[in-house]
Amino acid sequence: MSEIPLQQHSAPSGEQMTVRDLASCPPPERWHDWVEYDARAWPRKVEKHYEIIPTICFNCEAACGLLAYVDKETGRVKKFEGNPYHPGSRGRNCAKGPATINQVNDPERILYPLKRAGKRGEGKWERTTWDEVLETFAGKIRAAIVEGRRDEVMYHVGRPGHDGYMERVLGAWGVDGHNSHTNVCSSSARFGYQLWCGADRPSPDHANARFILLISSHLETGHYFNPQAQRIIEGKMKGAKLAVMDPRLSNTASMADYWLPTWPGSETAVLLAMARIILLEKLYNRAYMCRWVNWQEFLAAEHPGEPQTFDRFIEVLIDLYAEYTPAFAAQESGLPEETIIDIARQVGHAGTAFAAHTWRAATAGNLGGWQVSRALWFLSVLTGSIGTPGGTALNTWNKFVPAPFLKPSPSEAWNELLFPPEYPLANYEMSILLPYFLREGRGKLAAYFTRVYNPVWTNPDGTSWIEMLTNEQQVELHAALTPVWSETAWYADYVLPMGVGSERHDLMSQETHAGRWIGFRQPVLRVYKERHGEPVQFTYQANPGEVWEEDEFWIELSWRIDPDGSLGVRKYFESPSRPGQKLTIEEYYRWIFENSVPGLPEAAAREHLSPLEYMRAYGAFEIPQEKAPVFTLNERELKDLEGAQIDETTGKITRDGTTIGVLIDGKPCEGFPTPSRKLEFYSPTLKEWGWPEYAIPGYIHSHVHRAAVNHERGEYLLIPTFRLPTLIHTRSGNAKWLYEISNANPVWTHPTDAERIGVQTGDLVRVTTEIGHYVNRAWVTDGIRPGIVACSHHLGRWRLETSQGTDRWASALVELHKTQDGTWHMRQLQGTLPFESDDPDSARIFWREGGVHQNLTFPVHPDPVSGMHCWHQKVTVEPAHPEDGYGDVYVDTRKAYKVYKDWLAMTRPQTHRPDGLRRPLWMIRPYRPSASAFKR
Ligand code: SF4
Repeated sequence: MSEIPLQQHSAPSGEQMTVRDLASCPPPERWHDWVEYDARAWPRKVEKHYEIIPTICFNCEAACGLLAYVDKETGRVKKFEGNPYHPGSRGRNCAKGPATINQVNDPERILYPLKRAGKRGEGKWERTTWDEVLETFAGKIRAAIVEGRRDEVMYHVGRPGHDGYMERVLGAWGVDGHNSHTNVCSSSARFGYQLWCGADRPSPDHANARFILLISSHLETGHYFNPQAQRIIEGKMKGAKLAVMDPRLSNTASMADYWLPTWPGSETAVLLAMARIILLEKLYNRAYMCRWVNWQEFLAAEHPGEPQTFDRFIEVLIDLYAEYTPAFAAQESGLPEETIIDIARQVGHAGTAFAAHTWRAATAGNLGGWQVSRALWFLSVLTGSIGTPGGTALNTWNKFVPAPFLKPSPSEAWNELLFPPEYPLANYEMSILLPYFLREGRGKLAAYFTRVYNPVWTNPDGTSWIEMLTNEQQVELHAALTPVWSETAWYADYVLPMGVGSERHDLMSQETHAGRWIGFRQPVLRVYKERHGEPVQFTYQANPGEVWEEDEFWIELSWRIDPDGSLGVRKYFESPSRPGQKLTIEEYYRWIFENSVPGLPEAAAREHLSPLEYMRAYGAFEIPQEKAPVFTLNERELKDLEGAQIDETTGKITRDGTTIGVLIDGKPCEGFPTPSRKLEFYSPTLKEWGWPEYAIPGYIHSHVHRAAVNHERGEYLLIPTFRLPTLIHTRSGNAKWLYEISNANPVWTHPTDAERIGVQTGDLVRVTTEIGHYVNRAWVTDGIRPGIVACSHHLGRWRLETSQGTDRWASALVELHKTQDGTWHMRQLQGTLPFESDDPDSARIFWREGGVHQNLTFPVHPDPVSGMHCWHQKVTVEPAHPEDGYGDVYVDTRKAYKVYKDWLAMTRPQTHRPDGLRRPLWMIRPYRPSASAFKR
């Protein structure tokens, strides 16, 4: 055989590599027939021919590129590797990307729609047809729409995996029914960012930074794990210094120049102390702050009798933060004073090349955690590093969501199950409170979809979710749309199998770096068949069994909700090119690629392809910066001022009552999407909406502040929020390679604490929370601060039947029962055991315990301002009792309800506002109803 010239990663036309160079990546011109030697045939050289089809990983939010290798002999996907032409991931993946092949071939996967045959949760299932599923749900939803019960339709999503598709579907139905998992995830971090700049996610340019500060490692170990982690290392290799604030020595902290094991919740105090040092030592970017911070608004409102000058503003700042000395921050956090000072100076000297990020972790763990992201952004503002090369941009500057054809008008409905009056500022839906709201009679659900979402397992107080899901008055009809069994699917009426990452269409973009791109997830076997002349009408015809892709499910369902078009729903699901005909999924994406992605049609034309063909061929497209610039977009000049008015005092530029920009040094600029169009150090919103004491960045004592945890009485702070980089919330139970790597979640315990408790690694401990306890093994390690224990999420999956329910690769067989007095008890009957299946590896399972489900023992802790569940727990840790067994869980839901009421009492509802608003109009909502719906 002649040697095949290949392309190198970074050299588009390299010619040095051969088929024997395993480090190479196949060049696109050879993707139609890629040849490798069959490893199993070694030492013989047997050629295997593959067709390579790009798609997008669905195993976290980062949306990295994958290449599927379809074996031309069998027509099956052989493996997944990275797509070097994907701008975000650049050919690299974490372990979860290639493990997609496990999910495709999982012998435990659900291949046909199932309908319950007994009571909910009884575990009796029968196969049904998609036709029956669609008719049943269409009837329920149509009735709810026609009868004006639009708030009884709810779509509750875990991992979206797409941009904009479902918002369009729900908008077409006219329901305010989008619920998400975000208030167990990121709503607090988002809130802090949004207060400052109007966007609720940051986008650091790590690769070009001089100093990088991360609050916890959640980003690198779980969120945009691969794309951002590789750029952090790139930045470090160019000389950047990295500091990580995390009480746990994470993978990222172990790579850092500074590991800062702060007491959880004290991060804000440390960041404000750093801000004060930057101010005192005049390291701040005076010109930037003077132009872009709303200091005039602050002085006018809070210091009206004083000079309205920038110099006075700086003096006031120094006064305001006088108490945040290094000594105070050191006392709160446990960090050395000199380290705090050192890092503050390095941040100041990094100037516009200071990159910073926080997500989940400290923000998600603590009461008032949103002040952590707010204080961190304060450092970015002080250094003038917002959206600069090496700085931190708004996510909206680096993410690109193309518009679809025919966008529905915003709904007139407002669903108080999602945005209740107690939480007018909640950054996302008050998702975790749904069981209590239904119990209190605030509403009911006629049709409830959980989609890649497992609240029974993921959310705090999961047994309250079981109580809700088994109550047919509260939830009349429930479908779990999921590629894999879950604890929640067990309590559904229908379990509807959906495609994994290589079996569906989705369009995704993420703020992975200073650039903009879109990625096209596509059903690999459908594309393969179509390329080989085999027409496929629906993706399920190419997928295993009857696994549907959701895009097509929603089109079909929408047609059945409105078969004659009289409800005004159907028109959104009609073809843009064949009037009155049903939209195909190909038409949907073709329209977007042809009309909504700048530069794509031209790039495609250069290769004699249509835009859709281009995306099918490469799987991703980077939007040229001249079409979509990414830096300092606040400075963009407003060109069209016709009909606009300029407020002489504030510089705000408005048209028809809407603020469109701000005058800066005489230039009309777009500014930031805040009410002032500037960076809001001072938040009039918080003041007007009941929280005047938080109008500027400040320090809120966490519910697990050091003073609240009495170490002498055996109390500890439990961190339950960190994830292992090789697992996916509750979707890796179907990936055998991942479970082989990580299959236990012991309780991290510092040696001094282990000695105090009287345990060693491997001993059983009982961890007691406010509402119950769990039993797990201790892992004694120096990688955690004394006084703190930590237990990762993702592990401790369970099932209620021997061979059905959650994947057996990952779950223990348990018994779970509720007693008369409202307490729940779980006991493991069997750990993970080998089992017989089509995959011989299932008989080789060597791990036995599989982890412990800790979230069941946590009550809800909704932050009264941001609405975020505050995950950290004050616990006692002691040696297990004689009657305890590994994996035992005990919960008292009556106590859980009381804790919910206690936290609810901390809110300040704004139900009697003169303007009648339920929520500030400028604040983000993931699915946004009309402005009139914001009024009561
Ligand atoms: S970081 Fe890993 S899991 Fe996430 S999209 Fe990339 S490869 Fe997939």
